[in-house]
Amino acid sequence: MVGMALACSLANMPLTNQLNVAIIDSNPALLSGACIKKEEPPDPRVSTVTPATIAFFKDVGAWKYVEQHRHAYFGKMQVWDYTGLGYTRYNARDVNKEVLGCVVENKVLHKSLLSCLQSAATQQKIYPFRLSSMTMQTSSSSTPHGSLARLDLSDGNSLHAKLVVGADGSKSRVKELAGISSTGWKYSQNAIICTIEHTEENQCAWQRFLPNGPIALLPIGDKFSNIVWTMNPEESSTRKSMSEVEFVKEINRALDDGYGPRPTSQQFGGKSPFSLLTTDTTISTNEGFEVPPKVTRLASERMVFPLSLNHANSYALKRDVLIGDAAHTVHPLAGQGVNMGFGDALSLAKVIAEGIAVGSEIGEVSLLRRYESERKPANLAMMAILDGFQKAYSVDFGPLNVLRAAAFQGAQYISPLKRSIISYASGEKRFPLFS
Ligand SMILES: Cc1cc2nc3c(=O)[nH]c(=O)nc-3n(C[C@H](O)[C@H](O)[C@H](O)COP(=O)(O)OP(=O)(O)OC[C@H]3O[C@@H](n4cnc5c(N)ncnc54)[C@H](O)[C@@H]3O)c2cc1C
Repeated sequence: MVGMALACSLANMPLTNQLNVAIIDSNPALLSGACIKKEEPPDPRVSTVTPATIAFFKDVGAWKYVEQHRHAYFGKMQVWDYTGLGYTRYNARDVNKEVLGCVVENKVLHKSLLSCLQSAATQQKIYPFRLSSMTMQTSSSSTPHGSLARLDLSDGNSLHAKLVVGADGSKSRVKELAGISSTGWKYSQNAIICTIEHTEENQCAWQRFLPNGPIALLPIGDKFSNIVWTMNPEESSTRKSMSEVEFVKEINRALDDGYGPRPTSQQFGGKSPFSLLTTDTTISTNEGFEVPPKVTRLASERMVFPLSLNHANSYALKRDVLIGDAAHTVHPLAGQGVNMGFGDALSLAKVIAEGIAVGSEIGEVSLLRRYESERKPANLAMMAILDGFQKAYSVDFGPLNVLRAAAFQGAQYISPLKRSIISYASGEKRFPLFS
């Protein structure tokens, strides 16, 4: 998705649309064009995309294709935890926006970017193969391609390029072949994802923090929702193999009063616990707690993903740059991973255009470092926040439970804090409280 987004962005700018771009990906969807049938239930692999990503897709001309397929905008979100001590409801109205985000199947995002590329009259070619090896040739190399990078593909052919962009995911072969090291750890948590059905359409994004990890219920259009449920590996193998009836029962428990009571809207006598600390004008409108819609059946297979955090120590070398999950992999608890990647794609496309404008070589490390210096701090800040959340919500300890509840209540009642959280999660550049 992220590599295709970069190709679309390059195809969309006058300074870069003359570049010869080769897209190397063994994903069969690239050639078949992945026929998407509306009558089929949604695929469980979905992404919550932020308003910043939607704006990026609109700019490059890909969002109109997303709109031709199933997608679900949402304007409300409720986050709470199993202790029943607190909850927060976010509303797009709090930040004068129409939506907080949109849930889209990954295959729809991919297909939309592909359609966008195919409609652009540019020099793009798709190579449906695996990258096997990569060599950076020096200017003294006695080859007709001078100091270009040489890429060997699984069909036996080779390509030469001024710049190689590694957009090949968390197990990036480009990163490995370039010898770029990374820092990270496994979470000893897995996520089970699946599509489920309700009796009515769900229009809100829900997330409840349970003792072993969060469960999210995301609208995906019609009467379907997507489940992303984080838990320890033993639980995930039990829940993957249990009967559908049992599994649906477990989901409904996890989203309601399993593990602990529902929070009540009147915990503080209907008053903000922060009313002594803040003026009335900073108090957010208090929306009451709601119980998510019941799940009636499972509408897809259950898929399990191990979770980890990983960050490349460098994003840019001469002729080589990393974007998306190849540069950073995060916990999915806030649905930020691919949005960070789209931010990389936008930034790199602009840096390449700026380089061309002043006559720089696009593989020059000094140019590519400008992309790195823009994206690394932003990605590291987001990674630190997500990792902090993951850790804070992995501990069941009385005083910490109360602190977490206070954080929920703070976000629920203090408008500036709530607005800051929403705008940061929406893809705005900095956490406004820090600026
Ligand atoms: C359970 C779960 C839920 C998530 N939910 C969200 C969400 O709601 N919102 C969000 O923003 N993010 C979410 N994410 C994260 C998101 O899925 C990733 O950030 C995203 O897929 C990264 O996109 P990418 O294009 O960088 O890499 P990938 O999607 O991994 O794509 C890499 C591509 O490279 C190709 N490739 C790999 N190696 C080679 C090779 N050697 N040769 C040729 N091609 C190769 C692959 O075929 C693939 O097409 C979630 C992740 C998980 C695990």
